[in-house]
Amino acid sequence: MSDKIASTGTAADEAAPDGPHERVSTWWAEHAWLGGDSAETGVLIEVTGDRISRIERDVVEAPAGATVLRGITVPGFVNAHSHAFHRALRGHTQAERGSFWTWRERMYAVAARLQPDNYYRLARATFAEMVLAGMTCVGEFHYVHHDVGGVPYPEPSAMGEAIARAARDAGIRLTLLDTCYLAGGFGPGFARDSDAHVPLSEAQSRFGDGTAARWAERATRTRDRVTGDTVRVGAAVHSVRAVPADQLATVAEWAHRHETPIHAHVSEQVAENDDCLRVYGVTPTEHLAAHGVLDCLASAVHATHLTDDDIAAMSARDAFACFCVTTERDLADGLGPAAELVEHGVRLTIGSDSHAVIDPFEETRGIEMTERVASHKRGHFRASELLEAATVHGAASLGWSEAGMLDVGALADFVTIRLDSVRTAGWAPQSLLETVVFAAGAGDVTDVVVGGTPVVASGVHLAIPNLGAELTAAIAAVGA
Ligand SMILES: [Zn+2]
Repeated sequence: MSDKIASTGTAADEAAPDGPHERVSTWWAEHAWLGGDSAETGVLIEVTGDRISRIERDVVEAPAGATVLRGITVPGFVNAHSHAFHRALRGHTQAERGSFWTWRERMYAVAARLQPDNYYRLARATFAEMVLAGMTCVGEFHYVHHDVGGVPYPEPSAMGEAIARAARDAGIRLTLLDTCYLAGGFGPGFARDSDAHVPLSEAQSRFGDGTAARWAERATRTRDRVTGDTVRVGAAVHSVRAVPADQLATVAEWAHRHETPIHAHVSEQVAENDDCLRVYGVTPTEHLAAHGVLDCLASAVHATHLTDDDIAAMSARDAFACFCVTTERDLADGLGPAAELVEHGVRLTIGSDSHAVIDPFEETRGIEMTERVASHKRGHFRASELLEAATVHGAASLGWSEAGMLDVGALADFVTIRLDSVRTAGWAPQSLLETVVFAAGAGDVTDVVVGGTPVVASGVHLAIPNLGAELTAAIAAVGA
């Protein structure tokens, strides 16, 4: 087979026959996961422009001109839920007692210091850390829209544009989930009362557009200004506590009209469920479903405290559930019903959310490990199922249905994991996927290609080689 490949002359950077400006590059992967329950040995991946144009199996040697990828190559991991600026809190908040709610006060203090220039720098460094860890696509759940006091910037999309530029410069594919955030939480009243929600607090004033209609105006502007080859814009409802019922349909309609994903934090906290039941008489999932928020390409982020009816409602609407296990355990949120969701046909995705940890392997295996702790049983998910959650399902949930797989026609986003590190050494061919999911870590990623462009090589981010120092400076610049 290798002779046949070599005879086609697939040297790197050759011009494509049907597009003189599209470059052709070739990689040869020692092992690769092309789907299913096992890995292949000797896989040639040809890329034309930003897409995979050919895949050959059983290629025993790297052809001339091909870049050799030692280890196992898999589709790039997709981080379906991120708040880039939370990266500044890592190592600062873990010593505290308290709860999600006390942690949130620390998070607001960082949000108060963000400006387009320091946010650009922090987001670029955080996104670069993700790429270095093997993530090739991120869903940024973005809600710090305005200047201090809620005053719009001269360019109302300035913060969204800073994030889009940060993603481009870090080499990661982005869905900017422009988030509607209008209220400070549930009030003492009921659905029929004006005090069912309280106004935004001073700390939250930067997040709010006033009404969903004004949010839609700004989101459309942001969409028009940042959409590109590697950047798309979707919608988000921050949570049922932050968006009153009569505003939800506007956000859902915007997402449907633009055929974009719509994400929402759902049932992360028991208190949110209790308040929602008190005010509306239904759970957050039922409430969002009743207002059309779960109808099309929806993701319920966390989906931790769900009822059987919630799971059925998500299944009926083909919604995704985004699990963020390293954050959920850091914030003492609870354990979500991963196995039950999958049993009912709900697709899981992963997210690093607050970035207490940025490691797609830890997020991926965390879904299975959490289930073991809860059930006292092992083996709820196959390694391939967990990898699908972390790749193809994540990409689909962010509106990149053509990404997340090693297949002809797919976007050329892939990562290579070394098999000779202290974590992965001793692997066996028949359980190679288990080595990837249950043994490897972010530090084992050697090469990352996004849209056919190498972003990480030999374990180094090519644009930001000294990333530790850059993260230090970027975090210092927001005063964490
Ligand atoms: Zn979140």
